[in-house]
Amino acid sequence: MSETLNLVQQLIARPSVTPEDSGCQDILAEHLTPLGFQEERLDFEDTQNIWLRRGNTEPLLVFLGHTDVVPPGPLDQWDSPPFTPTLRDGLLYGRGAADMKGGIAAFITACERFVERHPEHKGSIALMITSDEEGIATNGVIKVVEVLENRNEKIDWCLIGEPSSDKKIADVIRVGRRGSLCAKLTIHGIQGHVAYPDITDNPIHSFAPALAELTQENWDNGNEFFPKTTLQVSNINSGTGAENIIPGSAEVLFNLRFSTELDAATIKQRTHALLDKYDFEYTLDWRLSGNPFLTTGGELIDAIHSAIKSVTSYDTIDDTGGGTSDGRFIAPTGAQVVELGPINASIHKINEHVSIDDLDTLSEIYEKTLEQLLT
Ligand SMILES: [Zn+2]
Repeated sequence: MSETLNLVQQLIARPSVTPEDSGCQDILAEHLTPLGFQEERLDFEDTQNIWLRRGNTEPLLVFLGHTDVVPPGPLDQWDSPPFTPTLRDGLLYGRGAADMKGGIAAFITACERFVERHPEHKGSIALMITSDEEGIATNGVIKVVEVLENRNEKIDWCLIGEPSSDKKIADVIRVGRRGSLCAKLTIHGIQGHVAYPDITDNPIHSFAPALAELTQENWDNGNEFFPKTTLQVSNINSGTGAENIIPGSAEVLFNLRFSTELDAATIKQRTHALLDKYDFEYTLDWRLSGNPFLTTGGELIDAIHSAIKSVTSYDTIDDTGGGTSDGRFIAPTGAQVVELGPINASIHKINEHVSIDDLDTLSEIYEKTLEQLLT
């Protein structure tokens, strides 16, 4: 059995539902500390973080990942238990196989071979692994980055093992992500009897035309790297359940996924301008989940392109799709950030899996990337 497969099986067997780590980070440390990686635990509240670094010089390549997984969902719908790694038809099944214990295992085995061949490599290698990527992400990478910044420990290149691949392993890498901005809008009206509308103010009626305009707004046209910014309304709640009462308020949740053509301040200002045209009272609360980030060119992208080509013989595609990732916390430090990991078709689903061959290919690509950058 391949080393990578063996390792990812050990990790899947630990039921590390977010924000639990369930001892996964201990396994990583056991592999890397004998190779000269310095171990540092940076736990915050319910979240476990580990920083493992080999070398004290620049440049620094960081592999970023998370040991937590999303809950398995209904157990009876799984063909094999989610925390019992199971091999079937060339695939490894288990929660976290693709997102992202497979990527972590591949990076560990890549480091092991690389350090054995190049014990005197230049620069430094580090792993930054958290247990709260799948949760609200307040005590994970964002906090570890703060610690590093406070002591001037600078990341040059960050490779994230998140599942970026589409049809074949490494056919797509992510070089950026859209920003994500959440809004909670409350429209204030006056409650009353439906038979006496003159002495009430129906917030659903007064918001309806604004809703139409909000959803039809052309926020931007995207650019060379990003698709158009989109707004989606996810919840509208109003009403008491009674048929004869006009509600006193309505609550609307919406989210924007935005390109580098916009920033949160501009979106807020344009939303207020749009709503202010209508005749209703409202309050609007915002939560910025992440700014957009983008790496264009540079040594990391070049190294990964050439590693993928030499291992798979095909060319990879640079992409900025998908949800947001922990890369949003690293990019503002000025580091080049790229995501490359397993095929993402089964992530967060029942019967999550990864191809056994893909694990070895990925490990080889990571090793070649290390060679490109640090020898
Ligand atoms: Zn993930």
